[in-house]
Amino acid sequence: MKLLSSPIDIQTLAHNYRSSGFTIGLVPTMGWFHDGHLSLMRKARAIADKVIVSLFVNPMQFGPAEDLDNYPYDLDRDCRLAEEVGVDILYAPEKNVMYPEGFATTLHVEGLTSGLCGGSRPGHFDGVTTVVAKLFNQTLPHIAVFGQKDFQQLAVIRKMVTDLDFPIEIVAHPIVREESGLAMSSRNTYLKDDEMAAALSLSQGIALAKNLVQGDRNVTSKQVKDEVCQNIIRHRECEIDYVEIVDKSTLRSCTHITVDSVLLLAVKINKRIRLIDNSSILEG
Ligand code: AMP
Repeated sequence: MKLLSSPIDIQTLAHNYRSSGFTIGLVPTMGWFHDGHLSLMRKARAIADKVIVSLFVNPMQFGPAEDLDNYPYDLDRDCRLAEEVGVDILYAPEKNVMYPEGFATTLHVEGLTSGLCGGSRPGHFDGVTTVVAKLFNQTLPHIAVFGQKDFQQLAVIRKMVTDLDFPIEIVAHPIVREESGLAMSSRNTYLKDDEMAAALSLSQGIALAKNLVQGDRNVTSKQVKDEVCQNIIRHRECEIDYVEIVDKSTLRSCTHITVDSVLLLAVKINKRIRLIDNSSILEG
């Protein structure tokens, strides 16, 4: 596996891959790899000839009071893990190269970004779309793999790709979970042992919602959300950012639950660790 950090170098290499007839699969990440990231890489490995993984902790998508400075980072560890799953290139650009003095462009997707994580993290998705567009232009992928863990992000990226005619196929990968049900996340590393029960309230909320819907097909979104919220706030460490049931395409709240409804949760643990999770709650 090669480690690259310059946009010009990666773009040249990507051009060479393309002229040799190889397909390129990109997996954008912020590093501190766990099995969720590794499964995205394996997916890319299975569907593309050359796999590029980007590792960039993107300052543009963090708010001023967020965890940018503490975000876990260990390049040697991540290199080893990426190499083990057969990644061809780990691309880890520096911040001042991605955003040099005078950088002045921001990409904004209207509508889909206004609620949920976009509501509580103003500017977050502008940072995401801007960096992903840059990564697309630098790595020239045919395919890019994103996790369903970041459900709203996936919808926003798909919209950007459609609206701006990026010739890239977006592939979604299901959420990878710990045996406990906890959705894997780099931020889980912040969790202390005595915060684990609170962290598990998200996946337990999903299980509870599924049970409620299975028990009564006519149960309303509000009833489900109320029960899920009650269950979460039993843990005094938990502060709910949102618990929403939305249509999977429009991300608009739905009153009645259908096969197209998705339960999305964001919860802050002890005001330090913001966790998200999601799932459809009625099987087709
Ligand atoms: P991050 O490094 O957190 O920005 O995530 C990089 C990519 O990995 C994104 O497409 C995430 O949705 C995906 N991802 C993160 N955690 C998981 C998970 N538990 N299961 C599947 N994909 C994940």
